[in-house]
Amino acid sequence: MDNLHCILKKYWGYDSFRPGQREIIDAVMDGRDTLGLMPTGGGKSVTFQVPGMALGGVTLVVTPLIALMKDQVDNLCSRGIKAAFMHSAMSRGESSRIWQRLVHGSCRFLYISPERLRSERFLEELRGLRKVSLIVVDEAHCISQWGYDFRPSYLEVGSMRRLFPTVPVLALTASATPVVADDICRLLHFRNHVVTRSSFSRPNISYVVRPTSDPDGQMLHILSRVAGSAIVYVRSRKATSVIARFLQDNGVTAAYFHAGLAFERKQELIEHWKSGDIRVMVATNAFGMGIDKSDVRLVIHYEAPPTLEEYYQEAGRAGRDGKPSYAVILDTGSSRRRMGARLAASFPSREYIKDIYERVCNFIGVSLEEGAGRFYEFSPDEFCTRFKQHPARVMSALNILGASGLLEFIDESENASRVLITATREELYHLPPDMASGTDAVLRALLRRYPGLFADYVPISEDRLCSDTGLDRQIVYEALLSLSRYGAIQYVPRRRASHILLTSHREEKDTLLIPRAVYEERRAAMKARMDAVLEYIEGRHRCRASVILSYFGEKKVGPCGTCDICRASRAGYVRQDNQDNKELEQDVLAYITAAQDAGGAAHDALLDSFDACRTRVEEFLHFLTDRRYLVRSPQGRYLIPSHKQ
Ligand code: ADP
Ligand code: MG
Repeated sequence: MDNLHCILKKYWGYDSFRPGQREIIDAVMDGRDTLGLMPTGGGKSVTFQVPGMALGGVTLVVTPLIALMKDQVDNLCSRGIKAAFMHSAMSRGESSRIWQRLVHGSCRFLYISPERLRSERFLEELRGLRKVSLIVVDEAHCISQWGYDFRPSYLEVGSMRRLFPTVPVLALTASATPVVADDICRLLHFRNHVVTRSSFSRPNISYVVRPTSDPDGQMLHILSRVAGSAIVYVRSRKATSVIARFLQDNGVTAAYFHAGLAFERKQELIEHWKSGDIRVMVATNAFGMGIDKSDVRLVIHYEAPPTLEEYYQEAGRAGRDGKPSYAVILDTGSSRRRMGARLAASFPSREYIKDIYERVCNFIGVSLEEGAGRFYEFSPDEFCTRFKQHPARVMSALNILGASGLLEFIDESENASRVLITATREELYHLPPDMASGTDAVLRALLRRYPGLFADYVPISEDRLCSDTGLDRQIVYEALLSLSRYGAIQYVPRRRASHILLTSHREEKDTLLIPRAVYEERRAAMKARMDAVLEYIEGRHRCRASVILSYFGEKKVGPCGTCDICRASRAGYVRQDNQDNKELEQDVLAYITAAQDAGGAAHDALLDSFDACRTRVEEFLHFLTDRRYLVRSPQGRYLIPSHKQ
């Protein structure tokens, strides 16, 4: 066993690396800049955590969401690895404790949120760190405006790189089309870099699109045919409860989940679903992150997902254990119209956007020529109520203002309360008699349930303390407060806060600049992503898995044999009328057009991709090449000649 294996075994207990992990790790250990593309659940974390341990010093990790950061830090700490995180909403005191730990070498992984990198002070402190061995950019697609989840503050990562010119950078993502992958390498100033791509193929998942005018009935029908744990994804919070109710009324154990539920409630639901007490979780896309259940047999999308990136991630929660599973989209034929509406809603008029900018600035109380780099608490709900605005449109406007570099809306999902014990054990035994009632019981429950409290802030749950002590909430809360006032603990009650960060001084509404790249070009990119989804849903000839894989830039993709299209072709069930021929021709031409930039479409890959109608496609290709509507490159690839494009 080499050193890396030993580390994997010692801290994680795994016997071997997964396919693809080793390639990334080797590149990193060689000191190369690396882009690692690996599907969700593939095991990207290990690819930087193991080298981080092997290299020594500090590994800096940029992650977009505070929830993700916490998850990972807790996970490392539970394996006995020292890790911490820093984000902009932390108090001075909290961050200076962490700097202390870094200076003393008692922290191996430092997770940072990208907007932290905007602060000069922070960069100054970073520069002072003596041994930074590796910089990791997780969810690296967020840096590209062509990606589906662009975050302007990710661009700061490029500048962080300048602080440590000789330290290698590892960028990781589960969703990068070829354009986005190039963008990541460019924006992170990669030189002489390595790109590794694990296959995104999930051979045990059957992809299915089910046309239906009765989605509820169809959903019940599928649930009655496929046994085992399931997720139904819907597009609104309201729909989660309506559909869960419908399932319950029809004898299916179901619950609903969305981001608006209380922290404890979410934890509880996840546990019930994991244990199988709840069979079906009806959820928005908030359900998934950090949820690791291997025997999900079925993922139904009640409506079309907005992008194939998201679809792949959500559908990919099925069948982690490698056993046969299904990913089904219910198609009521309205996707095209709905996507059109969504596109319009995501890009309200420039006038409207400028108007929202002005109102938001007034609302948070910032005057002209002021505010750059400052955080303001901002409640979208209050804002929308006060100005009678439609929340989704306001969010779209904030989004575009963000991409224009004017302000950033930071939605912090609910933070659990946290406690750190500052007294010694000895002192805890000798608390004064005038503490709030119940203090003793609460303190005992704290110590029993949360072992790490003397070392660092630990997330706690007041509800848990209530059930441990049998006291009610108010009493538990007051006991914690009284311990905190006495100076025995530091108690940070939970809060749900969102902020606006002004990225530049407030400007005059009329001089605001919303660049073409932010408006027109991003709109075109969003449209292209939607078109890809429509192609997936409406297509009737290309293997579904192939459509997804070639979207992610995989070159050699054959028919999966298990999607609805492949099955239909095996059963000899393929329509062959004139209308169908026309559609097929269009599909083939679209395929070749998409491959145009990569040097054309290879014969075998093209036929494999249209396996269901091989002969017809072959005839069609003959026909077109004879008439010079298609030409073949020296490598035999099909191309559309430039005068026909
Ligand atoms: P990703 O970031 O790619 O979505 P994670 O890093 O969160 O995936 O890992 C997904 C799961 O796979 C985790 O539960 C992790 O512990 C597990 N895992 C990662 N590497 C290995 C390995 N070599 N052997 C077994 N399990 C692994
Ligand atoms: Mg990850």
